[in-house]
Amino acid sequence: MFGITNGRKESFCKMPSRRFADGEVVMGRWPGSVLYYEVQVTSYDDVSHLYTVKYKDGTELALKESDIRSQSSFKQRKSQSSSSSPSRRSSSRSRSRSPGRPAKGRRRSSSQSREHKDDKKKTIQETNLAKLSENNTRRYNGEPDSTERNDTSCISLEQKLKPDLEIERVLEQYSLRPRKEEKKKEEIYSEKKIIETVKKIEKASSKTKELEFGGRIGAFTLIFLLPAAVFYLLLMVKQDDPSLMNFPPPLPKLESLWEARVFGVFLLWFFLQALFYLLPVGKVVEGLPLSNGRKLQYRINGFYAFILTAAAIGILLYFQFELHYLYDHFMQFAVSAAAFSMVLSIYLYFRSLKVPEEELAPGGNSGYFVYDFFTGHELNPRIGSFDLKYFCELRPGLIGWVVINLAMLLAEMKIHNQNMPSLSMILVNSFQLLYVVDALWNEEAILTTMDITHDGFGFMLAFGDLVWVPFVYSLQAFYLVGHPTAISWPVAAAITILNCIGYYIFRSANSQKNNFRRNPADPKLAYLKFIPTATGKGLLVTGWWGFVRHPNYLGDIIMALAWSLPCGFSHILPYFYVIYFICLLVHREARDEHHCKQKYGLAWERYCQRVPYRIFPYIY
Ligand code: NDP
Repeated sequence: MFGITNGRKESFCKMPSRRFADGEVVMGRWPGSVLYYEVQVTSYDDVSHLYTVKYKDGTELALKESDIRSQSSFKQRKSQSSSSSPSRRSSSRSRSRSPGRPAKGRRRSSSQSREHKDDKKKTIQETNLAKLSENNTRRYNGEPDSTERNDTSCISLEQKLKPDLEIERVLEQYSLRPRKEEKKKEEIYSEKKIIETVKKIEKASSKTKELEFGGRIGAFTLIFLLPAAVFYLLLMVKQDDPSLMNFPPPLPKLESLWEARVFGVFLLWFFLQALFYLLPVGKVVEGLPLSNGRKLQYRINGFYAFILTAAAIGILLYFQFELHYLYDHFMQFAVSAAAFSMVLSIYLYFRSLKVPEEELAPGGNSGYFVYDFFTGHELNPRIGSFDLKYFCELRPGLIGWVVINLAMLLAEMKIHNQNMPSLSMILVNSFQLLYVVDALWNEEAILTTMDITHDGFGFMLAFGDLVWVPFVYSLQAFYLVGHPTAISWPVAAAITILNCIGYYIFRSANSQKNNFRRNPADPKLAYLKFIPTATGKGLLVTGWWGFVRHPNYLGDIIMALAWSLPCGFSHILPYFYVIYFICLLVHREARDEHHCKQKYGLAWERYCQRVPYRIFPYIY
């Protein structure tokens, strides 16, 4: 880890390397105009720092880096304009600006270029989506790399609220105002043509080119590996000596893994949660804009669903229902949930074949069946207004997790003839209950997460939400039933403090970012500084997000450790969660980093220079 860190430091001392690779398809600015076209990078000159790019009609030009944009930043901007109506789209377009400067004298052959320019006016296939209103231009200064020389290059919210000399300087420096004159040039294109071309760009760039999770082979392997891992863990926890050094326990008989009644209880649970989800209580909010500018509506009533579930469980217990039925049939429940998630994933894949291209997930549209099945082909599968992914993310699995924990607590008391649950069991139950209640209380925050905005709904999330979360995250409570662990009050107090520290970091980091994303002009956040980006969104560089690049992951990992510690140090099995979770978040951080680099380009690189550590300060 230290090696990686040092390596990163070294690379910061060098001049920034080229941003676009040979062969990459990007948007290149037409010299002297504000128009961007789809081009392919063919080479890069280290001396002149110019890229040679090829237009679709074969024209080759040399462009500087500030005249090239990633395709994703164009998409992002379109979303930022948040216009679903074509007319609004085109009217805001007339206020377009580009932060780069004209590349006079950069052409290989100016006469050749002029001819092509004229041709392109007639047959234009792409258009410039870069548009920020005058207000936005004042708020965010775009991304020319020389804006970020030192601390003064970051804008604080206070600065943002009252335009000052610094922002004026940026406006002057990048000649943003004269761009208004150039809008006349753009108006030669009809509104209809613009809409058509916008659609073309979306369509062309919507295929997933970079495969994650080890590509097709990785996805195929994970479809089998994940259920096998759950199966193995649950079998191991039941062992008297669950040491990983021991030979795996014998496989249970197939017929013992399935019971129709258990499956019926699982279905009842799932549909009860669906019913709670449909209740017309709680506010309805809009999600982030989709690639077509549309915003989906979501009902925020997860916390109510939790209260209703708690009431239902209370009634069951009052009528002497044996909740440890869950413990007795735990493996059968896990098998039922796995079977259900597989059937759900198959349904999701087949229905995704009929949806329009623009509704497919940016990360799950590779065209390879196995990969798209695993990562999720459709971004927001809905039956009417019932959002399947959003529902599964926080309801049946997450609420199910605390119900399972409670069942384990009751099973412990029953099996060991205790009047009270053990201190360890109380800690595990309370910590995880806090985590779940927090997620449901802040349900709205999930709308800005990668799961909702980027990942489709396929096997990965269906299995993760319905099987992995409830049956693997409850491993510590399950372990404690069969392996009682006594801890003293001072140890319990120390573990509680650790959990509180983790929770504080996790919650305040998430709230800081969510509030900033929801309302960047919030006066309560005026003390924060951020790096402006060309998409209009800022990147916080002070507060928690100036401490490490994923402070929320840091808090989450600290909590994960606190959940395992009550299980003592006899076995590593209860630490599976924290080990797995570190791997998950390190991988997730890398995925997020990759997406942010695509979205924010140089601004993201500058953020990484300002905040060098990813999750663990001074370590990683
Ligand atoms: P994050 O909440 O970490 O969000 C990442 C996004 O935040 C980026 O894509 C970017 O999106 C934005 N961002 C990044 N840096 C900055 C910055 N400096 N300033 C402002 N915005 C920034 O995403 P996750 O969905 O991964 O995590 C959400 C929570 O869920 C975390 O607390 C995590 O620990 C938890 N989690 C829990 C799991 C579990 O199984 N228990 C699994 C996964 C996550 P943009 O710029 O587009 O807004």
